[in-house]
Amino acid sequence: MTRVGVVVVAGGSGSRMGRPKQFLPLGDATVVERSLRCFLSLPEVEAVVVALSEADRRERGSGLAGGRVRVVAAGSTRMGSVRSGVAALPPGLDVVAVHDGARPLVTPEIVRAVAAEAVRMGAAVAAVPVKDTLKRSEPGSTLVAGTPERALHWAAQTPQAYRREILAEALARFPDDAEATDESQLVERLGRPVALVPSSGENFKITTPEDLLMAEAILESRAGGRRWPRAGFGFDIHRLVPGRKLWLAGVLVPHGKGLLGHSDSDAVLHAACDAVLGALGLGEIGLAFPPSDPRFRGLDSRQIVAHTLARVSEAGGEVLHLDCTLIAEEPKLSPHYAAMRESLAALFHLPIARASLKAKSHEGLGAVGRGEAIACHAVATVLSR
Ligand code: MG
Repeated sequence: MTRVGVVVVAGGSGSRMGRPKQFLPLGDATVVERSLRCFLSLPEVEAVVVALSEADRRERGSGLAGGRVRVVAAGSTRMGSVRSGVAALPPGLDVVAVHDGARPLVTPEIVRAVAAEAVRMGAAVAAVPVKDTLKRSEPGSTLVAGTPERALHWAAQTPQAYRREILAEALARFPDDAEATDESQLVERLGRPVALVPSSGENFKITTPEDLLMAEAILESRAGGRRWPRAGFGFDIHRLVPGRKLWLAGVLVPHGKGLLGHSDSDAVLHAACDAVLGALGLGEIGLAFPPSDPRFRGLDSRQIVAHTLARVSEAGGEVLHLDCTLIAEEPKLSPHYAAMRESLAALFHLPIARASLKAKSHEGLGAVGRGEAIACHAVATVLSR
């Protein structure tokens, strides 16, 4: 087995995106952690050295280091970081791969193809054929000075991998390398071959906010496909009787009467949970909490919400939005809107803007109109596969 060492260059300050792009969140990890994950999934990778800026090393270095991973201080240029990283690798490696910390979508297949070609040819670069027509300009000019033949051009990515002795020779021979944007240029200057290894357009570098959106979409597709917003509808009604507490949206509303039922009878939470379950085709809350079961007597409906969210999470879903409409003749509910809405948002882990709650009277019509009951309608939007 080829013994591989990896240098991950992640020393940028990332001023374009507010904070270093390699530490932006991407799915369940940061950009650089995802880059590391790919290399650490390969048994032939014996050591990984991550070059971080001094500030990042202090604040985040200990979170990355450990096991096969070491953290070193980045240089003032990319090539400076490559030199520090290479110097920190252990002896005995056959191949050294250099990777941008901001290319989190690299795959084991790409890494292995580049490493194998480095063994064969001495140096290899992951690259993709250029898709756009290229135009050349003169320095300082925006006039087209020529159209190079696109078929002959490749966009270089990372990883770039080298037999260790060849990279060492290139770094030693050209100590003044400030102009070089990658170390393969130094190997070219040695007059040695550098092979292009066809890679994937998904292995792009996170540079702008839209790159991060594309990376999220690709990860989602790798995780099993796109999630779609689904709508669900829920309804609940309970009798309003003296001597009970009135719970609505998890808030205790002061009133001489409350809703009658087996649980605390919070009609808002019941309707909202049924809407969420309905969006996923998961039935209704009565199936999990049957009114006939004495264990659920006086049940706090916040537990029903927790159960519902667990079902959503098991299904790989996410509640995006709730809209609830209470129908009540009494008490006057508008003074409680803010508290009920905040509670609804908190219970369903939603920002307040995505938890809506309002109330209507029933114009004196029917049982609700006579104040004998309170009802609630709810619509939920849930993201799921
Ligand atoms: Mg109910």
